[in-house]
Amino acid sequence: MQLPHVTSFIGGLSIARGDDPMPVIGPAAGEPVAMLHQADAGEVGLAVASARDAWQNWRNVSVAARQTMLRRLADMIEANLDILAELETRTMGLPIRQTRMMADRAAGIYRFFAEFAGQHPEEMYRQERGYTTLVAREPVGVVGLISPWNAPLLLSSMKIAGALAFGNTCVLKPSEQTPLSLQRLMELITASDIPPGVVNMVNGTGPVTGKALIEHAGIDVISFTGGTATGRTVMAAAAQRLRPVATELGGKSANIVFADADFERALDGTLFAAFANNGEACLAGSRILIQRSIADRFLAAFIDRTKAIRVGDPMNPATEMGPVISAAHKARILAYLDQAQHSGCKVLTGGGDAGQAKGFYLDPIAVLAPSNRLPVCQDEIFGPFVTVTLFDTEDEAFAIANDSPFGLASYLWTGNLGTAMRGMRAIRAGTTWVNTPLLRDLRAGFGGFGDSGVGRESGRGSLQMFTQEKATIIGDGTGFIPRMGVSA
Ligand code: NAD
Repeated sequence: MQLPHVTSFIGGLSIARGDDPMPVIGPAAGEPVAMLHQADAGEVGLAVASARDAWQNWRNVSVAARQTMLRRLADMIEANLDILAELETRTMGLPIRQTRMMADRAAGIYRFFAEFAGQHPEEMYRQERGYTTLVAREPVGVVGLISPWNAPLLLSSMKIAGALAFGNTCVLKPSEQTPLSLQRLMELITASDIPPGVVNMVNGTGPVTGKALIEHAGIDVISFTGGTATGRTVMAAAAQRLRPVATELGGKSANIVFADADFERALDGTLFAAFANNGEACLAGSRILIQRSIADRFLAAFIDRTKAIRVGDPMNPATEMGPVISAAHKARILAYLDQAQHSGCKVLTGGGDAGQAKGFYLDPIAVLAPSNRLPVCQDEIFGPFVTVTLFDTEDEAFAIANDSPFGLASYLWTGNLGTAMRGMRAIRAGTTWVNTPLLRDLRAGFGGFGDSGVGRESGRGSLQMFTQEKATIIGDGTGFIPRMGVSA
């Protein structure tokens, strides 16, 4: 079978100037599913130039016209839900029923930003008599967008929609591991009313294509989602050119179950927060803390349910967990399992290959950790791997939750409003979910404390990132102006 070729999209055209394409490996069979043409610095330069050129017109397109274009793109995504979900599943290994939900939510993101762009107010001040100060928010220009492999369509759409809604053009660099759904999105954008050059895409590895993008002098703002180590590199490169950068990075979120929680809902919720998205989620509740008085009963139920998760072919609609992204990632996760065993953890379940001869499958793993200080509790493992730690008191639970370099999210399961409210204040994390997992309102900022990044993604967060303030002060002719050069 002829494999699809992934190219750059520059000015509405598919472009591949590079040498030999590299294979994109599908995790379900461990075999190539596409060939990717890597964009070098020259090709990245063409994409930035195309975006700059398109910006001259795009910045002046009316809000109403931009709204119409974003809504039409949302319709097109919905009409292509099946193929977008299939392409995402093929490269990422996420079960098809989850990638369908993701594609649907991606469409919702374009609708949200279309709406938001028409609603945000600008400012006017009249503190001084005789003067009016207007504060407008202007688009920044050409934005560089870098996204990871674990939710390609959704995370890239959050960036593209926010950038376009506020009058910017962009160059997207998706993960080299999962480019297929975004290639289809670019085809849809090309067929939509959005003018050529407003959204450009370059493909390739981080050290080649990503590096060229973050170092390009024509990029006005960088929005990056990925690992914490890469985030540091991206921020350092942006600092050299004094360009703003927003980073959405890793997490190791505490998932705290108090004895007074609704047992069944807490069980459903902790499992979903831990293992949705194959466990490969920045916001995964991968550090489970259980109050000791219910630990035996809760753990027994948790282990039973974890063992029963249907791991298998991600194209099967009944599958709940697919393979992890790559052979290297699977080896890294198993190395953590090995380390856990050697550092006094008890393996509760998992670590097998789910009975699959091919592909990068893993039975979901849970280990009981004697201390939160162990590397398995401190490092982001980013797979179907949870640690379980026991606690006695509320204060102890919050202290363990905060004993982490990360601060992306936390989950509280409790029937006590006071506990929830004290947790909400005590825990250093950008988002806390109380008695529910993972729901997001796009008006609420999403981002991290500490090593989980800088900045927030949301309606207002994206407005701040993708616009800059411009103040204009207007005198009405009555204000005092000191007269220089006039004899006293
Ligand atoms: P990664 O950092 O390896 O790669 C992310 C992107 O950066 C990819 O497109 C990659 O090609 C690019 N990149 C790599 N090196 C680069 C460089 N030197 N210069 C420029 N670009 C470079 O991350 P990943 O493995 O793709 O994704 C997993 C990570 O993303 C996890 O740590 C996860 O927590 C994080 N993540 C965070 C959020 C969030 O919202 N906070 C959401 C999803 C994923």
